[in-house]
Amino acid sequence: MEIDINLLKQIGLAVYKEVKPLLGTEKASEKLNRGAGGDITMYIDTVAENIIIDILEKENVNLLLISEEIGEKYIGNKQKAIKNQQKIIVDPIDGSNNAVRGISFCSVSIAYAVGNSLEDIIKSVIIDLTTGDTYWAEKGMGAFLNNKRICVSNRDFKQNCIFEVDFNRYNLIKNFSNYKLILQKIYKIRIMGSTALSLCLLAKGSIDGFLDLRRSTRLVDIAASYLIVKEAGGKLFSKTGEKLDSQLKKGAEISLFASNAKLEPYLKEKLIKINKKMRIS
Ligand SMILES: [Mg+2]
Repeated sequence: MEIDINLLKQIGLAVYKEVKPLLGTEKASEKLNRGAGGDITMYIDTVAENIIIDILEKENVNLLLISEEIGEKYIGNKQKAIKNQQKIIVDPIDGSNNAVRGISFCSVSIAYAVGNSLEDIIKSVIIDLTTGDTYWAEKGMGAFLNNKRICVSNRDFKQNCIFEVDFNRYNLIKNFSNYKLILQKIYKIRIMGSTALSLCLLAKGSIDGFLDLRRSTRLVDIAASYLIVKEAGGKLFSKTGEKLDSQLKKGAEISLFASNAKLEPYLKEKLIKINKKMRIS
């Protein structure tokens, strides 16, 4: 049996309730160990992940949980979970550094898939941990903020576009010069610190594009937002302008660009040019 979207919302709201009082506190930032995703796990990450595991374990489900701190864990019957291909992909806190420093931009990201690749994600929930705002989507049924349908903007570069552009800090100057063709078209650039929540801003039309110029992004950061952006009419593609795809497994990494539908052709055309030039130089 498929997992209901309401269970995903219930899990997200339980994380919100528990984590909100911890935001910006010293306790939140207590360092534990290094999580499966490679970052140091902090107290707040563990609290959030444990809530998710506890709720799932009380439900009658057989699935594979892929989560930032623990990596992979079967919930219920492992054999049944392998057979039914059900997966929940979670970032308990996306934007942990914001969360512990009291910067109001962090989220919990929960995706549900039946299958093994990105396209098999069929339900998603992302909750803004500062406001409790709930972004969610079901495949083929649109994307929503709380109860309101959302969609991407319809702006082109003549209309003051705002993008999130995340840079590789060891490669900053090179990043700028390689992607100048695109960057010079953007009116304002933001780097907010929670990829999942930034992609929700794209989905509701508050920003117009998202470029990740770091080496790559972790699957757990983008699994839920992938479906929300798509269902809001947005476009997602790779750094080379190709179709985005990834296996749903621990440690998977993806290079991701996303935009509204109007900007997609321009961005893809320039990306092909940029990549050709980068290969030659
Ligand atoms: Mg995290």
